[in-house]
Amino acid sequence: TRTPVNVTVTGAAGQIGYALLFRIASGQLLGADVPVHLRLLEIPQAVKAAEGTAMELDDAAFPLLAGIDVTDDVKRAFDGTNVALLVGARPRTKGMERGDLLEANGGIFKPQGEAINAGAADDVRVLVVGNPANTNALIAKSHAPDVPADRFTAMTRLDHNRAIAQLSKKLQAPVADIKKIAIWGNHSATQYPDIFHAEVGGRNAAEAVNDEAWLRDTFIPTVAKRGAAIIEARGASSAASAASAAIDHVHDWVNGTPEGDWTSMAVVSDGSYGVPEGLVSSFPVVCKDGKWEIVQGLDIDAFSQERIDASVRELEEERDAVRKLGLI
Ligand code: NDP
Repeated sequence: TRTPVNVTVTGAAGQIGYALLFRIASGQLLGADVPVHLRLLEIPQAVKAAEGTAMELDDAAFPLLAGIDVTDDVKRAFDGTNVALLVGARPRTKGMERGDLLEANGGIFKPQGEAINAGAADDVRVLVVGNPANTNALIAKSHAPDVPADRFTAMTRLDHNRAIAQLSKKLQAPVADIKKIAIWGNHSATQYPDIFHAEVGGRNAAEAVNDEAWLRDTFIPTVAKRGAAIIEARGASSAASAASAAIDHVHDWVNGTPEGDWTSMAVVSDGSYGVPEGLVSSFPVVCKDGKWEIVQGLDIDAFSQERIDASVRELEEERDAVRKLGLI
């Protein structure tokens, strides 16, 4: 039998955590033959609720679930961890300035980066879901100098999946036929979902759509503002779809992207496509042998470049703000 993989989930008592944990324990994160040991991190006042979720996980009698620890101790949560899903974050409340939000999240992601640096397993892989996810990942990475920078990623897979869903509806094509969607930039309203390289049943997606007004005025804003539309409809933010995207992100990172396709991940830039080195920005990536690589050599036209640049500018502003606060 294989040694269990340690998977840490922060904010485990939250909405996303509730949807995510059951899918991890059932084997959908790493594979149907990989046992997992869960570490649930919560703030002290939510530990009891996380213990309740742990009771339900016990009651599901998942054959792959080797154990569960619930803790409010950051060091314990990340000790020996192989996969860290950083979901818990300080939400933006009404009237909160961006600087306050970044500072509050610095107080969460700095100690988590330090704990990962000090105690995580050598193969640790980190996915930041909690918003502002790109910049939270940048903060955590900055406090983990001994961990290779490419192990820190942030989630734009939900945006990627949303773009596939919208395109599938527009073209009445099955989602399985849609390949090579790309999300560029920040996981925020400035993100750029790009269909110019996408394929639908082997045909170029932008040509199949052949409707620039739809692309500009419907597709891009629908994908970018889908979170708000879900809140409006459900009365609560997207949780199951976010959890599903987190599963997809780590699954593909570890097990590889399918041949002839790629995915979108926010990763540390190497300067590709004019994105300043060191920023955690979303790119199309291919994953193989447990590593991601930015897809190179794509032709980016003026329409796309303008949108990528705008989102990257926002990331630079966030980086400058957290630098000013001494968080990186
Ligand atoms: P959720 O589980 O709904 O969301 C958690 C985080 O995911 C938020 O930052 C949220 O951002 C973000 N997120 C990213 N993408 C999406 C998306 N597509 N849809 C929705 N959310 C997205 O929040 P809850 O309030 O239910 O739970 C958070 C939990 O985290 C609480 O139990 C809290 O106690 C805990 N927490 C734990 C910490 C720790 O372990 N150290 C630190 C801070 C909090 P957004 O706010 O923008 O929606």
